[in-house]
Amino acid sequence: KLHNEIQELRGNIRVFARIRPALPSQNAGALATIKLPNPREAKEIEVLSAGESATGTATMKSFGFSFDRVFGPEASQRDVFGEVEHLMQSVLDGYNTCIFAYGQTGSGKTHTLEGSGLPDSNFNGSDLTPTADSGAGLIPRAVQMLFATAESLKDKGWTYDFEGGMLEIYNETIHDLLGKGSLESAIKHEVKHEKGRTTVSDAVVLPLTSPSQVFSLLSKASSKRSVAATLMNERSSRSHSVFTLRVRGSNASTMESCDATLSLVDLAGSERLANSGSGDDAKRFKEAVSINKSLSSLSDVISALGAGKAATHVPYRNSTLTWLLKNSLGGNSKTLMLLALSPMAEHLGESLCSLRFASKVN
Ligand code: ADP
Ligand code: MG
Repeated sequence: KLHNEIQELRGNIRVFARIRPALPSQNAGALATIKLPNPREAKEIEVLSAGESATGTATMKSFGFSFDRVFGPEASQRDVFGEVEHLMQSVLDGYNTCIFAYGQTGSGKTHTLEGSGLPDSNFNGSDLTPTADSGAGLIPRAVQMLFATAESLKDKGWTYDFEGGMLEIYNETIHDLLGKGSLESAIKHEVKHEKGRTTVSDAVVLPLTSPSQVFSLLSKASSKRSVAATLMNERSSRSHSVFTLRVRGSNASTMESCDATLSLVDLAGSERLANSGSGDDAKRFKEAVSINKSLSSLSDVISALGAGKAATHVPYRNSTLTWLLKNSLGGNSKTLMLLALSPMAEHLGESLCSLRFASKVN
């Protein structure tokens, strides 16, 4: 009972933080001091930052944050999915669910969502079973679990239909990562909300009957992205990618039905605009303004929803991202923010910004 009350108050919003390990190319000596004071509970995170007092002596400042769950550098993809798994049951029960990965470029957002190397077309599901500890991230594991659970519910009279789409939001404009034309094509995609359902005009939505079809959808989307820009990582770090899986179920014996959308969003890098002084400044500035706008709108929307009934106005319209996800944020929907953090000292400033952002929505 108490648990339910807390859930209601918190508006179904959860925040997890994950610190990635140092990469082989990175000097472990340059690690920041980030501690999980109580690793067995792993809900708290403490960051130590060196500073100087007014008199010039070196000081250590400690910043503490707490979230629903904190994963250290040794946490595996399986560990992370273990805490997310229950959301898949909610999707099959008809709850819209949004999972966001937030953090600066290089902090591990794509690793957490997609993982290393998506399964190929010969995929047979074995490396995604809950006990398997492969590099596969949240998306392939979620998809695998949804299909497997749907299959097991056949006995109880349920049949499920899946369909998926993949969009990119760049400079506040929607591009279809599954569409025919190039990403720069002039097709204008408009978001429409009708009877609690969201559609995007002229965007491809594919019927899906197996996990491997979902994986080929994802690889199609990423190859389209890589043709679009000479530096794929550049573009993908400055745009949001939104993978949506619509799950519709009906039960012939009980006449029940459900309809839910799972959205997995790899957000644009949250790093602040650097004064690079390069010739691309105008372009970079426009990108930074767009990213800022959508990330702060997302924070505003989630905060308004977290405030529950007290919030009279939820500012969905303030950005393309929040407008697109309107039906999946709020109401009965579930939201999970995955905060990705770099362990490196040079990234400490950005990490603190990310931690503060996430504390605000938590
Ligand atoms: P982002 O999408 O936030 O820009 P990436 O997911 O691309 O960051 O991660 C940056 C680099 O760090 C990649 O080489 C990725 O493989 C690696 N990486 C990120 N998280 C982990 C992790 N938990 N374990 C091992 N390598 C990781
Ligand atoms: Mg990425």
